[in-house]
Amino acid sequence: MSSSTRVGAAACVAVLAGIALVEGGQLPPWGALVLGSAAVLVAAHLELRRLDGLRHFVEGLVRDAEAPGGAGAAASGAGAAAADAAGRRAVRLLAQAGDAIGRLAAALDGLAGRLERRQAQLRGANEQQGAILAAMAEGLLALDRERRVVHVNDEARRLLGIERPVPPRTLLSELTRAPAILRAVDDCFDDGERVVDEFQVAGRDPPCVLLVTASPSPLAEAGAPACVLVLQDVTELRRLEQVRRDFVAAVSHELRTPLTSILGFLESVLDDPQLDVERRQQFLGKVQRNTERILAIVSDLLDLARIEGSQTLELQPVSLGLLAAQCVDACREQASQKQIELVLERGTVNDAVEAEPPSVVMALSNLLDNALKYTPAGGHVKLALGGDSAAVYVDVIDDGPGIALHEQERIFERFYRVDKDRSRALGGTGLGLSIVRNVARRHGGQVAVHSRPGQGCRFRLSLPRHPRRPVARS
Ligand code: ADP
Repeated sequence: MSSSTRVGAAACVAVLAGIALVEGGQLPPWGALVLGSAAVLVAAHLELRRLDGLRHFVEGLVRDAEAPGGAGAAASGAGAAAADAAGRRAVRLLAQAGDAIGRLAAALDGLAGRLERRQAQLRGANEQQGAILAAMAEGLLALDRERRVVHVNDEARRLLGIERPVPPRTLLSELTRAPAILRAVDDCFDDGERVVDEFQVAGRDPPCVLLVTASPSPLAEAGAPACVLVLQDVTELRRLEQVRRDFVAAVSHELRTPLTSILGFLESVLDDPQLDVERRQQFLGKVQRNTERILAIVSDLLDLARIEGSQTLELQPVSLGLLAAQCVDACREQASQKQIELVLERGTVNDAVEAEPPSVVMALSNLLDNALKYTPAGGHVKLALGGDSAAVYVDVIDDGPGIALHEQERIFERFYRVDKDRSRALGGTGLGLSIVRNVARRHGGQVAVHSRPGQGCRFRLSLPRHPRRPVARS
């Protein structure tokens, strides 16, 4: 029954009832008219209230549909009818009546359901996008045309040193004053092209170098991101590049000296055919010694490159005491030539470790070679084993010249020698201890020195019994 039919029917019933009452003398003749009019008014009022309920419901739908689809919408208790469950129930009641208002209510109820599903999909997509942006290793900032922040991820806040959440529509200039970032954004807006810049963040200790990339957004429109800023922490990358440059310079320098000598002596021999045999032999001897020096440097460099270059360690269960014994046996001749007493004390410690035997032998040989090299004739060199449940160590102890405290950390750097001439005269390359340190670190262990000038040295190479995985190279 339509609403107008219902109003008409109510009026008819009221008029008929009125006529009956007039005929029964219970009402004056105009009473039927009044009764009919009142019935019409009440019925019309009720219909208007039904329509009003629908109007409220539609207004709620429009409000929800216009709410931004972002997290804010979700947080504001989104969902068209979900926000107004009572209104939804009322509409469903209205829909049960089969009249025009009921059919309209049913159509609106269906629309609300579709809107709810669509908003749930949008919320899901938003959450997924947020999770991806939050997991990015790079810092990301999206800006609108007015340079207000539309989105900022956690990494960007970390890199810019912002601890609190960034309120929506914050100006970029309120977040950072880094000139390189502001300039990159300005240039990106001016030229409409990607701008890349790099800068050192002011006042950071340790220093932090950031790479900034400002790209114009292809989706730029009112309120949407117009520029996307990506921030990358390239501090470690730049440090490694510097280390590589320094290393290449140091190697070139180390090789140039013996090569220049070789060239000089060869020229002297070639330019003077009358050179007496003794001088000639002397010059050629120097050529030979410099060539041996170059070979020693190249051989140590290759060892270093092999340790640093290997992705994995070929670990196997070994006895550290047995490896130390092999090294001692290989050096017996060198020790006896210098009349140095060489002793190995394996003790009773359980010396089982998981290690890569060739690397450990290389490290121990370098320590032992140094001890024999720098200890004067008639001195003493001892290898002693020790350990606990987590690690096993070998101490290489000598009673040579010792090393001053301020030199002790530097001796592990590549090509660093306390006394260059003495090291060169003894055939040193300045790479031995950095090989030892690399082997120790790759196993997750360490090497340390205890020494006082004039009182000898004790180098301790300590290896974990069960290394977890190869540790990053230095
Ligand atoms: P080198 O090839 O010159 O020995 P290393 O890297 O093995 O290079 O050692 C670096 C420096 O540490 C050496 O040049 C030397 O000055 C010092 N050094 C190492 N071991 C000893 C030691 N047992 N006694 C005294 N000085 C040592």
